Amino acid sequence: MTLDASGLAKALGPERNDGLQTVHTALCRREAGAFQRAAKSGEELVVACTQERALFLELNEQTEGAPGVVERPIRFVNIRETAGWSKDAKAQPAALTPKIAALLALAQLPDAEPVGTVGYRSEGRVLIVGSADRAARAAKMLADKLQVSVLLQGPGTLPQERSFVVHAGTITAIGGWLGAFNVSWRAGNPIDLDLCTRCNACIEVCPEQAIDFSYQIDLAKCKDHRDCVRVCDAAGAIDFQRTAQEVEAWRKKGPIERFQGWLIDSGLIHDEEIRRIEAEADAEIEAAVAFAEAGTLESVEELERFVTMERVPT
Ligand code: SF4
Ligand code: SF4
Repeated sequence: MTLDASGLAKALGPERNDGLQTVHTALCRREAGAFQRAAKSGEELVVACTQERALFLELNEQTEGAPGVVERPIRFVNIRETAGWSKDAKAQPAALTPKIAALLALAQLPDAEPVGTVGYRSEGRVLIVGSADRAARAAKMLADKLQVSVLLQGPGTLPQERSFVVHAGTITAIGGWLGAFNVSWRAGNPIDLDLCTRCNACIEVCPEQAIDFSYQIDLAKCKDHRDCVRVCDAAGAIDFQRTAQEVEAWRKKGPIERFQGWLIDSGLIHDEEIRRIEAEADAEIEAAVAFAEAGTLESVEELERFVTMERVPT
């Protein structure tokens, strides 16, 4: 690799080109004296070689009067492999100058300010949230370092081997901080992944292809004939009632139920009034449905009125 010393000196400018008056190609051997003289000067040192880093550090240590690396760090930069091995290196040495100059300039920049750190205590557990494919891949990478749990958020393929805990559901809340997160989710699928042995029997038996290898039932495709429940009898992992129970549990947490409970607790309403309001609401809904069903269908023209711009005769 041929170095264009004057081009480098020009590119680096007067503040960063000190030492480029002479190009050394054997600094770690017969020109070691030049390195030692520079080391003794006490000025900042950048050595454009990383291969002989240990040798240069030792030379610095052995050079009488040279400050130690704690006092005056020596920086090393690899210009041979990172700039000099391109196909242009021999044909056009001058073409390498800008890249080498950039590497030398970078090596002379002051160290970055340390970033503030926050201490935290990890209990060695991690929850990976994502689709079956992605989450399983991440889980595999972390399983030998952390206790992994996965929360499935989409279709894909779970590995046959049950080497980490898998849940499925919709996240309802995430709180806490690094090292102490709390995640709540709502399970809404008939298959309990904790009980599922991934035997694939339900996938094979389902005529609607409603179950994929993430072992979750696509309720939009499911036609309720329960063949899957029958073949899963031993594991007992499929329970369509669970979904209904979830709905009921969440209905109880809904604002209407809770407001009603608050009104009762506060003595502002009584059971008879609730029953009357519910009966009135039911009657109103039934009347609206009956009215709609008894009506005639709107014409397409009528349906489109005020939806699209009226055609203007041309
Ligand atoms: S049949 Fe039951 S245990 Fe087997 S894969 Fe389906 S849900 Fe899991
Ligand atoms: S109930 Fe029928 S359609 Fe639904 S998942 Fe089970 S086998 Fe498939």
